[in-house]
Amino acid sequence: MRARLGVMGGTFDPIHYGHLVAAEEALHQFELDQVVFVPTGDPWMKEHAVVSPAEDRYLMTVIATASDAKFRVSRMEIDREGPTYTVDTLRDLRTELRATTDLFFVTGADAMLEIFQWKDPAELFELAHLIAATRPGYDLEAFTANTPQGHPDVTVMQVPALAISSTDIRARVAAGRPIRYLLPEGVTTYIEKAGLYR
Ligand code: NAP
Repeated sequence: MRARLGVMGGTFDPIHYGHLVAAEEALHQFELDQVVFVPTGDPWMKEHAVVSPAEDRYLMTVIATASDAKFRVSRMEIDREGPTYTVDTLRDLRTELRATTDLFFVTGADAMLEIFQWKDPAELFELAHLIAATRPGYDLEAFTANTPQGHPDVTVMQVPALAISSTDIRARVAAGRPIRYLLPEGVTTYIEKAGLYR
């Protein structure tokens, strides 16, 4: 019997209900046994953007997923030195896990569109099945056009709750607007206590 592990990659700055619904949908659609959330360490493609400290993003992800027995959080990208590359994460998981475990890497469609600029993209397709999560209405043609012949297609998974976005939540906090009901209450409390996004 093969095991099926979802790997949810993201900056999670902050994690919100869109991410949680996407992980739950992947569990269901791809009959996964578990989903491991992997907050990025040093997101190299964002070197000019301000990203909250990895430890804050990790703790918010732990808080958000604590009540779900099928969700867990890994520190592997945070603890690995140097820039974060997904291929290193999937290689490490491949080494750690039995050969009978299949990997399903889930992230946002906008991030996945740039996959051919990531490190060793061809190997990514060998290591895991790729799932691009997006909100309904996203231009899927742009996605298909970017998937070269010869590679198995990336599966696009539409998740209405992905209308929620971390960028919007950060802007709301900065402007003093409400964020309640967009993300778990414990994460809201963490944001307040740590003084994030002000
Ligand atoms: P991003 O540019 O911050 O996000 C792009 C879009 O995808 C945003 O709309 C974002 O929404 C959404 N998104 C991000 N993660 C998601 C998830 N798990 N589920 C659903 N939607 C998600 O992307 P990023 O967070 O920096 O990177 C995403 C993943 O790609 C990470 O695991 C990262 O390590 C990987 N990546 C790898 C390389 C590489 O190996 N060289 C390069 C770039 C990215 P929110 O802002 O609301 O999350």
